[in-house]
This record gives sequence, C-alpha cells and structure tokens, in this order.
Amino acid sequence: MVERMPSHARVVVIGGGIVGCSVAYHLTTLGWRDVLLLERRDLSSGTTWHAAGLVGQLRSSHNLTRLARYGAVLYERLEAETGQATGFRRCGSISVARTAERLIELKRGASMARCFGVDVEPISPAEAGKLWPLMRTDDLAGAVWIPGDGRTNPIDTTLALARGARTGGATILENVTVTGIQRTGDAATGVRTDHGDVGADMIVNCAGMWGRAVGQMAGVNVPLHAAEHFYIVTEPLPGVTRELPVLRDTDGYIYVREEVGGLLMGGFEPAAKPWGMDGIPAEFKFSLLPEDWEHFRVLMEQACVRIPALETAPVRRHVNGPESFTPDNRYMLGEAPELRNFFVAAGFNSVGIASAAGAGQALAEWIVGGQPSMDLWDVDIRRFAPFQNNARYLRERTREVVGLLYAMHWPFRQPDTARGVRRSVLHDRLAGRGAVFGVVAGWERANWFASDGVAPRYVYTYGRPSWFPCAAAEHRAVREAVGLFDQSSLAKFLLQGPDATAALQRLYGNDVDVPPGRIVYTQMLNARGGIECDLTVTRVGVDAYLIVTIAAAAGHDADWIRRGLAGARATLTDVTSAFTVLGVMGPRSRELLSRLSSADLSNAAFPFGTAREIELGYATVRATRITYVGELGWELYVPTELAAGVYDDVVAAGAELGLRHAGYHAMDSLRLEKGYRSWGHDLGADDTPLEAGLGFAVAFKKDFVGREALLRQRDGALARRLVMFTLNDPDPLLLGDEPIWRDDVLVGRITSGAYGHTLGRSIGMGYVRHPAGVDAALVRSGRWELEIASERFAARAQLEPPYDPKSLRVRG
Ligand SMILES: Cc1cc2nc3c(=O)[nH]c(=O)nc-3n(C[C@H](O)[C@H](O)[C@H](O)COP(=O)(O)OP(=O)(O)OC[C@H]3O[C@@H](n4cnc5c(N)ncnc54)[C@H](O)[C@@H]3O)c2cc1C
Repeated sequence: MVERMPSHARVVVIGGGIVGCSVAYHLTTLGWRDVLLLERRDLSSGTTWHAAGLVGQLRSSHNLTRLARYGAVLYERLEAETGQATGFRRCGSISVARTAERLIELKRGASMARCFGVDVEPISPAEAGKLWPLMRTDDLAGAVWIPGDGRTNPIDTTLALARGARTGGATILENVTVTGIQRTGDAATGVRTDHGDVGADMIVNCAGMWGRAVGQMAGVNVPLHAAEHFYIVTEPLPGVTRELPVLRDTDGYIYVREEVGGLLMGGFEPAAKPWGMDGIPAEFKFSLLPEDWEHFRVLMEQACVRIPALETAPVRRHVNGPESFTPDNRYMLGEAPELRNFFVAAGFNSVGIASAAGAGQALAEWIVGGQPSMDLWDVDIRRFAPFQNNARYLRERTREVVGLLYAMHWPFRQPDTARGVRRSVLHDRLAGRGAVFGVVAGWERANWFASDGVAPRYVYTYGRPSWFPCAAAEHRAVREAVGLFDQSSLAKFLLQGPDATAALQRLYGNDVDVPPGRIVYTQMLNARGGIECDLTVTRVGVDAYLIVTIAAAAGHDADWIRRGLAGARATLTDVTSAFTVLGVMGPRSRELLSRLSSADLSNAAFPFGTAREIELGYATVRATRITYVGELGWELYVPTELAAGVYDDVVAAGAELGLRHAGYHAMDSLRLEKGYRSWGHDLGADDTPLEAGLGFAVAFKKDFVGREALLRQRDGALARRLVMFTLNDPDPLLLGDEPIWRDDVLVGRITSGAYGHTLGRSIGMGYVRHPAGVDAALVRSGRWELEIASERFAARAQLEPPYDPKSLRVRG
C-alpha cells in the first residue's frame, strides 16, 4: 500500500539504490526539502544490496579520484549523523603488482592521488605480507598501501542515506514504479507511475541497470549495459581478522576482503558476460543470477595463486549479481542534452558504492546551482555520442569493459571491441598507408603510421612504445617539410540567423563580430569564468558562423551553444558529416597547395587567421589558415563526397615535397611544444582563460558570460597559472597527471604531457598554485621537479612555449 503520493515535487528521484538515496540526501543537505524518491520495489533491492562494499579512493583519473575521496569521509560520519549504522570501517587497502610495469602503474596512480591529498604509500612485498599474512608475496614486484580506504555495508549505508534524506524533508516511497516521463516542449515536467502522475520541476534518473530503459521513456540516451559480476564468500578461515585490509591483485583480476571471519573474493575477468539483452526483468528484486563456476574459474585460479589457503577453503556463498557498465568504464552524471530538467546518475561500473557519495553530492550541487560546481567532464553524460546507445555496440563493449577495470591501464590503450563503427571516408586509404587507429567519441582516428618495419599495431608499455620512431618521423616532416592529417573527427556546427552575432557575442569570450572570412579562437565560459568550451569560429557570412570543436566535446559544446541561444533567432546545425577535414601542415604546405590551386596563398593575400573557399584539384574547398601544430598550414574543409579525390591529389602533389602522413600522437607532441592547450586536459570548467594564459582571446570591451568573474581575477594576482615544463633528463616520459614540485612543495599537477621530438625530451603543462601569485619571476626561480611514478625529475619551467614562442613559423 503506497500512501502520501504527492501530485507534485520539486525533484523526483527515480530509483532507491545507493545512488538515488545519495542524490536525495545531498539535495536535502543543500536545503531542498520537496524531494520525492520513488523506488519500484525496496530500497537497495536492485544492484546495491549484494555489492562487496569496497570503498576505494584511487581511480583512473584525477576527477574520479577527487569524487571518490569523499566516499570514505561521508560513510564514516553518517552513522553519527543519522543514527543508522553503515558498517563502514577504515581497514585500508593494499594493491599488489606482479610485474614491474604494474608497479609503475600503481606508483603513477599513487603520485596522482597525492595531488588530491590521498595518503598512498609504495611498500615492499614483505611489508605487504605483514599487513596480509595469508598472501603469497615471493612473486610480487611491489605494492601500494592506502590506509584511508575502507569497506562498508551497502544496504545499511543506503538506509543511512535514506534516513538522512527523510530527516532533511525528503519523501521516499517504495513499491512505486515510474512508467513514463511527461514533457512539455524540450523540458521534462513530471513522471507517470503505477500509482498516478506526479508533476516535477526536475527529474533524476538513478535507475541503475534500468537507467537506459528509463532514459528511453524520455527520449534520452543513457548508454549502459548490464553484465554479470561474481564473488564468493568462504567459511571462516584461521588468520582472517576483521582488521584485514582490502586486497587487490589486479594482475590476477581479483579483490579480497574479510567477511564474517572468512574471505570474500571477487573480480573482473578479461572476457565478461553481458546480461539483460532483452531488458531487465520487472520482477527483479533482491535477485541473483545463476552460479557459473566455469566462468568464475579464471578468478578462482588466480585467487589460489595469491592466497593458497583458498584452495581448500569451504565456499559458503557464490554471488552472481548484475551491474551496469558504460562504454568507457566511467559513470554518467548530469542533465541530459536531449531534455531539460532531466538528470542522470547511472552506470556505475562496479564502483557505485565507493562513488555514490561524491556523485550524489556533485549532482545535487549541479541541480541546485544550475551548473556543476566543479569540473565533472570525466563523468559528464554529454561525452557520449547518440550512436553509443546502440544495443549491439553496448553489448560488445561490455564484454570488454568489465575486465578493463583491473587490466593494465596502459598509456594510449585502445578498446578492442565495437571498433570501426565511425569512420572517416579516408579510413581505408589511411589504413593502406599503415595507419594505426585510436578511438575518440567513437571516431576511428589515425594515431600513427607504421613504417620502417614496425608492425602496424599497438604494443603497450610504460616505456618508449614501438611507434615512437614513427611518430618522431611524422613530427619531423611537419616541422621540416609537410605533413598530412585526417582531422575529419572535428565537430562542425553552422550557426545561422539574424541573431547569430548577438548570441555569440554574449556566449563567447572573444569578439566574433569580425569581417566574413576571419577565424576567431575563443572560449565559452561559465559564471565562474571557467572554460566550458574551447573553439574556433569562422564567420562565413553576415549572419553565419562555422563553429569547430574537438570530437570529444561535440555533444557538450552543442548543448552549451543551444542553451545559450535561448530564444534567439538563430539555428545550430551539426554539419560534421558534411565535411572531411585535411590538415596540410608544415613549411612546404604553401608550395604543395599551390601545385593544386591557382588561389593566391601568399601571406598578403591569405594571412593567418583567415578562411576562404578555393579551388583545389577538381574541388572547391574551404581553406582555413590555422594550426594546432605550430607551423604554416591550412585545414581544408572538403565536402565529404569530394574528399577522396582531394586527398589523392594532395598525396600525389606532396610526393616530391617530403609529404608524410601524420597521426594524433605526432600532433600531440607538436602542439605541446608550441604550448597549445587541449580542452578536457589543460582547459576545463575550473580553469579561467587568465589562468590558462589565454587572456589574448578575451575581449573585455564587450559583455559576455563570465566577464565579471574574469574582471575580478584580472584585478588581483593570479594565484594559479598554467606553466610549461621541460624535463632535463631526456629519458622519462610525461603522460599527464604527474605532480609538480617547487622547492619540495607540491604546487600542482601536469595536465598534459608528451615527448617533444624537436626538443628531444618530455614536455608538459600544468597549473601551479601560489597564494601570492604565479608570475614570471616565480616561475623563473625555485627548484622545479615533476614526479613520475613516485620519483622526482628536475624540470625547467617557463610561461612561454618552448618552441617558436613568437609564432614566426605559423605566420611564415
Ligand atoms: C557483485 C557485485 C559486487 C560489487 N561490489 C562493489 C564494491 O565493492 N564497491 C563498489 O563501489 N561497488 C560495487 N558494486 C557496484 C555497486 O553495487 C553498484 O555500482 C551500485 O549499487 C549501483 O547503485 P545504483 O543506485 O546506481 O543502482 P541500483 O542499486 O540498482 O538502484 C537502482 C534502483 O532503481 C530502481 N528502479 C529501476 N527502475 C525504476 C523505475 N522505473 N521506477 C522506480 N524505481 C526504479 C531499482 O529497483 C533499483 O532499486 C558491486 C556490484 C556487484 C554486482
């Protein structure tokens, strides 16, 4: 019997697992009392109830780590706050490495976590053995110890969050199923349930593995898929105590913790079992899936290697419970781009217990504040392209992503499944030239071209990869002759209409009211002055603009622009598929294009920062004089059906000029030497243009979103600023996320790093904090070091880019 079903709520949360309860709890802590949580069965009865309850803080990226840190903090205090026990214990955790490369990975993770105040300590196998006496250690390379990690009881923790939410004013109703989403125009306005309709200002989809189906009720893509996930619990074993830390042996795919005097052992096998292909059954409640010992065998065998006592331990329980996974192993948070006021927190990839606290808090702040209070790009639902909600794509990828949780997080690692889905029309031609592809937002992109006997495939390593000499040759060709990039994955939008200029002037930091044919580099800012989007805009007509952004940010940036238009007489059209983009970059690019075009490409006639249509071979293309590699060059926007012909002409004309195909690894090295920033790495919602050294792209003379915040910042000293670093030692590789030390004080984190093939050493950039201000004098002084895998390396710091700081080559 359901009582007190209201007709309206300010927020309706769908789903009473740990995530929904956390969202409701955090909404009430922010003062919102009119919160209604609807759960189709009982609280925690979906996936939450059977979770192993591990609460780890170390995650694969800095933002996920930042969010996960809060889990242990909240769960520790929740019992005192609500009176409901959570079962949380700070037992610490040990992650062991069987190989030298895994140890590097663990130490790199430890270095990154240090930037966020997580206490992580590399320890020897012997020390690990003392903390975990039942573990075999003679085959280990090392371990890391995180004393602040813990474990919790998932059901009790969910109930504690629910109690906290109720105390804060929320209404929680069980046995109410949401059956539909009501909408008016492009906004959600309520839910349909099996107990009547409820109007709502905001709706939050926290339906776990039902989340995709609930999304479909609203026309919203929620790309997740369920998979089976297994653990066993043994009878009590001698030597197992309540104080035993959580143990992760990721090379053996397993995790282990104490459970009522026995051991709970589960893991993430390399080839997983997707589940729920025909939908998640309606009757599923406190349910488990059938045991599958054959499938579990790979975990059992590995567990017995690490803990020999498990070989003879009687198994008390075998748990096979479904959990939802996303195509990139990160959960989804945020307002859906397809429907206003419809938020999502789902797809928790087996870390939902640990992540629910941070995710719930971040989403509640987003709902209450109207925008995220911190950079949440790693988990932003807008990172997925609509096609990634395709059922076959999800099923195939899910087979792989479960195992990726514990697989080596190799630098440049690419997924093996659901590949070749989104391809440039030049794909096969590039493959014929030895291209090795990586995938971004589903796009297959040539990352490097195999040459000189190098096999055209990735061989992963933390050392110098096999493609290093290939990327170096591509890099050199761009610096010394001419390189050819397929940049078709760039997202392209056409904004047209009488209000286009006025709308963009308000949205963009830079002045876009320029003559047609001019290109403007600009950012879109939030009210805090943080960089939400980093784009180039070409005015292609009086009331028309071609807006270009990176593939990964396509959905996100389009959403920002559409929101910003708010009633303006202007329409945004995605024209990504209409144009293939060829980057012809390098000192001989003018010579090359002149062989194919009668257009005057001289500096006087075609200066940097301009664009125009030119004839090229048989085609008419939009040539834009712009660069992301720091050399003379043009990006050619070619109507897609003409692209193969233009490509063939460019390749033929370039043969005598040293033209080389180049990929995204070379581009990264080139752009870092030149100090070009990358959104999602060096630029994000927490970084302002002034901190990022992009003040030149801000037109303070006009009004725009974020201007007030920038003016305030401009008036004071910059306490945080992007700084360029070059390692003194030519050997170590910077990959990003390395801590920055100045005079033995931790002052920041590298946001992106790569080997600079012109400079012959690794370069990186990252934000440095200094309360009294980061200026040239501070950067020039002091002893700078970058920490790589827990070891520090001396570095040179500077504000200007190490390569061609005056941009003479770009304007050459
Ligand atoms: C075997 C196993 C072990 C795990 N171990 C860990 C661990 O150690 N640490 C960790 O961090 N994570 C772990 N996880 C993952 C964790 O359990 C999940 O990430 C987490 O529980 C997800 O929570 P949720 O609230 O998103 O989903 P759920 O708990 O499934 O909650 C979703 C709720 O929505 C309800 N719902 C669905 N549709 C509707 C509707 N239409 N109307 C109303 N209600 C609806 C469902 O009934 C359900 O209760 C484990 C998972 C498994 C399977």
